[in-house]
Amino acid sequence: MEVRELGEFGLIERIGRLAGLERSASGAGVVLGIGDDAALLRPRAGHDVVVSADAFVEGVHFRFDHETPRLAGSRAAVAALSDLAAMGALPLGLTLSLSVPPRAETRVVLGLVRGLVEQAGQHGAPLIGGNVARSRSLELHLTALGEVARGKALRRHRARLGDRLFVSGPLGRSALERARGRIRHLPEPRLALGQALARSRRVSACIDLSDGLIADLGHLCAASGVGARLDASAVPRPRGFAAACRRSGADPQRLVLSGGEDYELLFALRGTQDVPVSIRRLAGPQLACVGRLAAGPLELVGTAGRMPPQPGWRHF
Ligand SMILES: [Mg+2]
Repeated sequence: MEVRELGEFGLIERIGRLAGLERSASGAGVVLGIGDDAALLRPRAGHDVVVSADAFVEGVHFRFDHETPRLAGSRAAVAALSDLAAMGALPLGLTLSLSVPPRAETRVVLGLVRGLVEQAGQHGAPLIGGNVARSRSLELHLTALGEVARGKALRRHRARLGDRLFVSGPLGRSALERARGRIRHLPEPRLALGQALARSRRVSACIDLSDGLIADLGHLCAASGVGARLDASAVPRPRGFAAACRRSGADPQRLVLSGGEDYELLFALRGTQDVPVSIRRLAGPQLACVGRLAAGPLELVGTAGRMPPQPGWRHF
């Protein structure tokens, strides 16, 4: 069945039912979800509200010859929640503004929404509202809402010269799957880790790795007004990555440094002591120090090659 046969209100009703499946996962902070003119949130006293918007467009962010609708929807949720993780926030909920071509298959659209709702629900972010509109392309526009203790949000701009840089886990897998045209892997938004980083006074800056390590490190450096020395050989990679890249004719270094969509966290740590145990435990075994902040431009060491010519994802 095509969406135009189901109609706007039919589609909204089906989405509401899917969202209802996850209602048990709601709770924290949601006073009112789907069903009125707007949702109501009540963050805890002494907390700031964190808001992030994301677009997920067919042909740009997902393609159905590369992945199932359900996985694409799940990846949209991960992308949105990862921005909350990067700020150290606890998720409260998500809104979805859905643009749909009238001839889109209902099965495909509801598959996307199902993946989104399931994934977000698992991370304590129920779908609390949204909108449906007719459009030329299939697009999900998400707003992720969260809360963080007042004044404790992680930011990009407080890193200083000498701070060490850490990456929370392996990079490159999502880019390799995109290069192969077959996406199976769903990254994890590092929400618990982000919240732990926000509690530590030694973490001076943080960003999630959505566009690629070099691009996102560049954003952090620009915000902080510093440069960095990045050791390419220290960046954690997935197990068996070199062999998998060889089989696909892909350049592993390029995928690791510029691939994007891994949603690990990159953070700067003050001082020379070890990473706090609480952070190490949440980050897991592949947490790695990949360099430090330095004067001058971004410098890449630990590699025979030069800086990859394409520093990361660019829309235009
Ligand atoms: Mg981000």
